[in-house]
Amino acid sequence: MKSLCVYCSSSDRLDAKYFAAATAVGREIAHRHWALVYGGGKTGLMGAVARGVKAQGGHVVGIIPEFMKAKELEFTEADELISVLTMRERKMLMETRADAFLALPGGWGTLEEVLEILTLAHLEVLHKPVVLLNQDGYYDDLLRLFERIVAEKFMHATIRGKFAVARTVEEVFPLIQGWQHQPGDAKWFQTK
Ligand code: AMP
Repeated sequence: MKSLCVYCSSSDRLDAKYFAAATAVGREIAHRHWALVYGGGKTGLMGAVARGVKAQGGHVVGIIPEFMKAKELEFTEADELISVLTMRERKMLMETRADAFLALPGGWGTLEEVLEILTLAHLEVLHKPVVLLNQDGYYDDLLRLFERIVAEKFMHATIRGKFAVARTVEEVFPLIQGWQHQPGDAKWFQTK
């Protein structure tokens, strides 16, 4: 069974449209017979994705640090709940257990996780699909920043080949399944 790692918001205060999309992502993961790998939380979009998977009889793997469990933030209905000590350990396990990565709208935690994955893809350490769900243009400003990064030569234009952007939940799986590895700039380590 393939696994999709989902990074997303832990906030419970979001507009209902974000919860609806997160639940739909969870349902789609189960319908496609993939497993969910994620941060193991019960709050925000994290909880919504996991509940969406479970509602359709799917498989949920949560990887959660002890300090979050101590605050009872874990999704207890997960099929596998793996405890780790640090956030770094958690990210590493999520990365190794997943066949593809999806970022839904989120805050710093989500950005940190997806940018680490993109950085590994850029460095050719990771060769797995990465998709951003740009729901209602949530990631437009980040994508503009990526363009500026290229325009001002902080990074090579090949970074554009390291991720795909889905506008809707329906676009997510076709993008993952149609994904082909795009080699980066062989000279990524040079400054000119
Ligand atoms: P954020 O986007 O800032 O809400 O952070 C969400 C991401 O950071 C998730 O993908 C989690 O891995 C981690 N995280 C942050 N807060 C929590 C929480 N309350 N419960 C579980 N994971 C969290």
